[in-house]
Amino acid sequence: MGIEEIAKKYALINAIKFDGKASLKAVIGKVMAEVKGDAKEIVKIVREVVEEINKLSIEEQKKIAEKLGIEINEEKKKKEIKLPPLPDARKGEVVTRFPPEPNGYLHIGHAKAAVIDYEYARMYDGIFILRFDDTNPVNEKKEFYDAQKEDLKWLGIEWDKEYRTSDNLPKHYELAKELLERGCAYICTCSEEEIRKNRRLGKECACRNRKEQPWDEFFKMKEGEAVLRLKGDMKSQNTAMRDPILFRIIDHPHPIHGTRFRVWPTYDFYGAIEDSLSGITHPFRTKEYELRDEVYFYILDCLDLRKPHLMEFSRLSIKGMPVSKRKLKPLVEKKLVWGWDDPRLPTLRGLARRGILAEAIKEFVLLQGISKSESVVVFENLEAVNRKLLDGMAKRLFFVPEPVKVIVENAPEREAVLKYHPSINMGERKVETKGMFYIPASDASKFEKGSKFRLKDLYNVVVLEKNDVIKGEYAGDELLQIPKIQWVTEEHYEMEVVIPLLPFKNGEFDENSLKITKGYVEKNIDEIKHGEIVQFERFGFVRIEKDGKTRGIKAHD
Ligand code: ATP
Ligand code: MG
Repeated sequence: MGIEEIAKKYALINAIKFDGKASLKAVIGKVMAEVKGDAKEIVKIVREVVEEINKLSIEEQKKIAEKLGIEINEEKKKKEIKLPPLPDARKGEVVTRFPPEPNGYLHIGHAKAAVIDYEYARMYDGIFILRFDDTNPVNEKKEFYDAQKEDLKWLGIEWDKEYRTSDNLPKHYELAKELLERGCAYICTCSEEEIRKNRRLGKECACRNRKEQPWDEFFKMKEGEAVLRLKGDMKSQNTAMRDPILFRIIDHPHPIHGTRFRVWPTYDFYGAIEDSLSGITHPFRTKEYELRDEVYFYILDCLDLRKPHLMEFSRLSIKGMPVSKRKLKPLVEKKLVWGWDDPRLPTLRGLARRGILAEAIKEFVLLQGISKSESVVVFENLEAVNRKLLDGMAKRLFFVPEPVKVIVENAPEREAVLKYHPSINMGERKVETKGMFYIPASDASKFEKGSKFRLKDLYNVVVLEKNDVIKGEYAGDELLQIPKIQWVTEEHYEMEVVIPLLPFKNGEFDENSLKITKGYVEKNIDEIKHGEIVQFERFGFVRIEKDGKTRGIKAHD
């Protein structure tokens, strides 16, 4: 597009937005961001175009815009992905929660839950609660509470209220006692094996029908000696209802409460109780809890507590990636990966480290939506969303993997002026060239004597001789249909780029899932900040790390 066309586009967009009168200043700003050249000249052209457009009526402007295929609501078009409405929901009255267990770092599956919970609260001007379900002291660590909060903030999620389930244990005890008194629960001293066997057979045990069920007694027992069970229905078709365990004894210090508690509720109990007492209207759970919904409502019924509207969505799975703390933890503990932030992992930290944007994660999980159908998605889907976002914000640079030397005869000495982005004004850099370059081995291997290629944004070269080094000759500036190859001169740095692949192959951890490519990068990498994501042309998007030596981590092509 020429300057005039670009000016016309922005003049029309601006005019239609502001009652038929485009602002010269606004249009100049837009045009300048897109085209380069003499500023005076640009202003002159834009002024003429804006004057023309402003002479027209808004109807005429709209007609022209339509004819030219100009999208007026371009800014608004940055589409908000819509979640379907919630059942039984009124504005101002929706309360949702995200309930992580502080036993590891958050992954993209948690992001799905957190984003959906958070977005629904926002959609209904409701309240979003962050609740730490910290009721298994064996797994939980203090560091994870803060780490999970940091990760949520990174995602752009804000909560209205935050609390720990463990702080409410005294209330849980009260309710447990009430369950016992109402004959809805019992203390069971059967072994784990017996419990399992009776469940299978649909058989009640003697503990169930004991008259005396003193709650205080339970506290005197040893770990493993007794559990508190719901009096459900041992013959129920739904095996979850066959007297599920509500409390167990765990002698292990808790990261917050130390040894204050040793009787801990199970998810069946605290999940229902907390959702109800904290006023959650629409608690989301993943689909695998479906069978436990009956237990959830049964407990609340026994205690005459308010019943929320349970919602579900499918668990997020990604092919070749473990989206589960249970599977991630051993990889970290056995040191098979760098840590929780290993770029192969779908933890938020791992994804961030390889240059996946928080915005991309949000958009990706909202695209999955709240469908219940189980589907394994491929990582490429997330890459596609990320690429679209990065494309308009990443500077482009030259990195030459596995470099091969090229000597060009009759090379004009030039100062190449390379734009950091072809269509968005991100500035430019200058590179002095003489007659020596490096290009990627993968390109060099395809050449033979007589092949022509173009050093990108510089000039053409014809190959004269090909050995370890390529000898070529300057072959003009004309743009031809030949490969355009990124290059560096003798002024370069050596650099490594880490390429994360899928950590699992055929269900097993793949030792070779981290590849390293060595190459040369142009010295302008000095301009790039630690943590910045750039696009190495014809190589891919790479996040640059500069703690100690400079290296790259590839996000994707
Ligand atoms: P993990 O196996 O990763 O530990 P979890 O469900 O035990 O999973 P929690 O910390 O208890 O982990 O989960 C907090 C919330 O995140 C829960 O509401 C859970 O439903 C949701 N969640 C966890 N993993 C996924 C996933 N893969 N897809 C969607 N939601 C998930
Ligand atoms: Mg859990």
